[in-house]
Amino acid sequence: MPELPEVESIARTLRERIAGRRIASVRLSRPDFVRHGAGSIRKLLTGDRVAAVKRVGKRLWIELESGAACLVHLGMSGRLTIERAEAPTLPHTHLSFRLEGEAGDVRLRDPRRFGGVWFFPEGRTAGDNQLESLGPDALEISTREFVQLCRGRRPIKSLLLDQRSIAGIGNIYADESLFDARIHPLTLADELSTDDQRRLAASVRRVLRKAVNFGGSTLRDYVRADGTAGEFQRLHRVYGRDGQPCVRCKADIQRIVVAQRSTHYCPTCQPIGTHA
Ligand SMILES: [Zn+2]
Repeated sequence: MPELPEVESIARTLRERIAGRRIASVRLSRPDFVRHGAGSIRKLLTGDRVAAVKRVGKRLWIELESGAACLVHLGMSGRLTIERAEAPTLPHTHLSFRLEGEAGDVRLRDPRRFGGVWFFPEGRTAGDNQLESLGPDALEISTREFVQLCRGRRPIKSLLLDQRSIAGIGNIYADESLFDARIHPLTLADELSTDDQRRLAASVRRVLRKAVNFGGSTLRDYVRADGTAGEFQRLHRVYGRDGQPCVRCKADIQRIVVAQRSTHYCPTCQPIGTHA
């Protein structure tokens, strides 16, 4: 499932390539893929101009000049790519926008359809119920805000995954951030020292920024907006590496389940109950 770095990578490419462009036509082949506003999306988007592309947590928020907006959720297998207008339309392309001039098409494919698009002719105000419950963005959260989050008696990994507390982190980057900060994923948030909490805040930002710079992680379906795979998966230090040697200490990376999610850590570098 695309997390913050993957969606940020797509948002940056869209900003470069489609911001300021007018939408010449809209093709909707699966009306139920548009979860809100399906009846008006074609008519209202055609002729409108892309004003801004933002990322909200793990989702994309596309603002139009008219004040309308589209929220795009990539789900598990969703791909949003910019392609030449003459490129063949692949199966499971549910929605596409043709841009004026040579800018090509923005195409949304999602074979499993866990993702979707919410179209709000009234813009942000109407979309707020989709966005309101998100915590501060993980790429921008301050150390002070992060320390304030670490209050409850729940495993720190559960806290990192809770989008209402901090928005954008999923399973991959929770595991990678905890390894970076040398913190065991089951450590209770309020048992971390303030130094640990500060170090983890810095690790979260560092890991996410680096992942954005490498275009995110491609494990299965995710591709960047230009259709190429992300590269950060080569730099994973614990995620998906159970049974392989730790890059720091050579101990075997372990896999456990935390918050119903597969969780990877080094038992030596991330000891439970003690802090580096
Ligand atoms: Zn280790």
